[in-house]
Amino acid sequence: MKFKQLLYAIICNSMQRRIFVKNSLLSLLAMNNLKDLKNLSDSFISHSDKMPLLFVGHGNPMNAIEDNEYSKVWKALPAALPKPQAILCISAHWETRGTFVTAMQKPKTIHDFGGFPQELFDVQYPANGNPALAKQVKEEVKSTTVGLDEAWGLDHGCWSVVKQMYPHADVPVIQFSLDYTKPAQYHYDLAKELSVLRNKGVLIIGSGNMVHNLGMIDWQNPNGGYDWANEMNATFKKLIESNNHKDLINYTSLGKAAALAIPTNEHYLPLLYILGLKEEKENVSFFNDKTLMGSLSMTSVKI
Ligand code: ZN
Repeated sequence: MKFKQLLYAIICNSMQRRIFVKNSLLSLLAMNNLKDLKNLSDSFISHSDKMPLLFVGHGNPMNAIEDNEYSKVWKALPAALPKPQAILCISAHWETRGTFVTAMQKPKTIHDFGGFPQELFDVQYPANGNPALAKQVKEEVKSTTVGLDEAWGLDHGCWSVVKQMYPHADVPVIQFSLDYTKPAQYHYDLAKELSVLRNKGVLIIGSGNMVHNLGMIDWQNPNGGYDWANEMNATFKKLIESNNHKDLINYTSLGKAAALAIPTNEHYLPLLYILGLKEEKENVSFFNDKTLMGSLSMTSVKI
């Protein structure tokens, strides 16, 4: 009897060991699955590291649905970024008196343009909002009262870019408005109060155009800029690279070319938010670096 019990115990132990070894191997194999490793690294990065910053020149709303040289770059951006927990977009197309953040669970897609094909009006970008993040934004900003907005949604400055980046609409998106009553310095300083969001997996995107003069569009020049537009494109890049934010904030002192490039500043201000959030030693790179239609630039910045 004793021999039989001993044999039974050995067989059981051996089975348990085999099951243990098999389960351990399965876990290891699962861990070695590249997708799992990537997910693990993504969640690690998003909770512990500072998220990059983007200023995107959005240009023509058709970039939202066209597969062109600009949208191709937008589509490729997420591969070079940690997967965000949420996106906060500062769009040229949401100007308000006072500062607001969208706080609804389901932001609507706003088609804030005219004269484009029906195909563009048919676009819906059904990303969720993030009411909890909106409340956090309101709490972080101490210098002014940020209103929680339930009426806006996602305008084309935001969704035309984000749709190409995250076509499955699987990242929640909120927008932060531009207070048109305030000077450039105010926007640059206000941005700094949002910096903690970068440590919480929030990708902050400024969407506008550095050179943006619709009144001087040159339809004969689809792939180039006026001399003043090229000059300002180069000046902006030089000032950004050298961290000369003072001159960029005081853009009205940059001469005649700057006055032509920024006849109204709503497309320029989103850049100042991104620069306000930049830390001195962070690297800058440019993409879609191009002037077009005479008086526009698509030049974009990754920090
Ligand atoms: Zn625009």
